[in-house]
Amino acid sequence: MAKSSVIVVGAGVAGLCCALELLERGLEVAVVERAAVLGGESCSWMAGGMLAPWCERAITEPELVTWGEPSIDWWTRNFAGTVRKGSLVVAQARDLPDLSRFASRTERYQWIDTEGIAALEPGLAGRFHRALFFPDEAHLDPRRALAALADALERRGVAIQLGVELMPEAAEAHVVVDCRGLAARDALPDLRGVRGEMIVVRTPDVRLARPVRMLHPRLPLYIVPRGDGLFMIGATMIESERRGPVSVRSALELLNAAYALHPAFGEAEIVELGADLRPAFPDNLPQVRRDGRVLRANGLFRHGFLLAPALARQVADTIFNSMLETDHADLPQRRRA
Ligand SMILES: Cc1cc2nc3c(=O)[nH]c(=O)nc-3n(C[C@H](O)[C@H](O)[C@H](O)COP(=O)(O)OP(=O)(O)OC[C@H]3O[C@@H](n4cnc5c(N)ncnc54)[C@H](O)[C@@H]3O)c2cc1C
Repeated sequence: MAKSSVIVVGAGVAGLCCALELLERGLEVAVVERAAVLGGESCSWMAGGMLAPWCERAITEPELVTWGEPSIDWWTRNFAGTVRKGSLVVAQARDLPDLSRFASRTERYQWIDTEGIAALEPGLAGRFHRALFFPDEAHLDPRRALAALADALERRGVAIQLGVELMPEAAEAHVVVDCRGLAARDALPDLRGVRGEMIVVRTPDVRLARPVRMLHPRLPLYIVPRGDGLFMIGATMIESERRGPVSVRSALELLNAAYALHPAFGEAEIVELGADLRPAFPDNLPQVRRDGRVLRANGLFRHGFLLAPALARQVADTIFNSMLETDHADLPQRRRA
């Protein structure tokens, strides 16, 4: 492999966002990916693609909003398929107290009633009496988004080297950005996998314009419309590192919840059942850690698409602030940032 100034190892959402950011800041970048096809072994392939910092704020840390909000503009600039129509949170009548609790833990929402729900999502008319509408949120199809980032890299002369498994320490480069996801556990012992399962279904009988979350005491569910009658139903969150197919219990719970959202899901075709392990640090927030000339960017947990642009900025800042000027003043660059 030719000597490059920066090698990014891993072409999941973290690696692709880092590569693009570094390229935009003028560095020479190469990307290697062990899978033979883009997304073939990546957790990013399984994601729902919600860009929902305020909904997630209700269940996670405040940093999520600070880091995640600018991502919505980032994705809009870098992926034309980004849909900015907000998201909706509903609950069945018996779970309405959960909706109020959810609201009390976050911001940037509007309470809407039966008419408001029908106006936003005619397909749900009459099914729910109250909902929270988060108008500033967005969503995307992760698989098309990954392909769009790979195309953007290729247009700038960076072809992802597929089928190349590389240990970051062995890479011939001035700086190595380790974006191996859970595979980086050899170097990050506190990284764990959190199992997530999802189901993709197709039905012409349900129309949704935006992701809908349904609060449920046991399994909060979301459904993300993918167009052409496709819907991603997600996702379980299980503290288990078991790989392998979706369990019967999880499939039943996900499909039951979808059926409760709209009975027409009962006639939908199951297109795909998928599972993967989300890479997470103990506080469930991402980090960039420096290890000599290797920067490890990891821990995106359930927010890979939401937080990868911020993680990429942090990687680039670290290279420019503490690696480039001092340790690697000779680093080849296309132009100065
Ligand atoms: C069911 C489910 C739903 C989700 N929904 C959402 C959502 O709605 N919104 C959101 O923002 N996030 C979501 N996530 C989380 C998101 O998918 C992850 O946070 C994200 O994919 C992690 O990205 P990553 O690039 O760090 O890891 P990965 O996507 O796993 O990428 C790591 C890459 O490195 C490669 N690799 C590993 N070792 C090597 C090596 N030695 N040499 C070369 N390549 C190597 C792997 O093949 C892989 O392609 C979801 C996750 C799951 C499982």
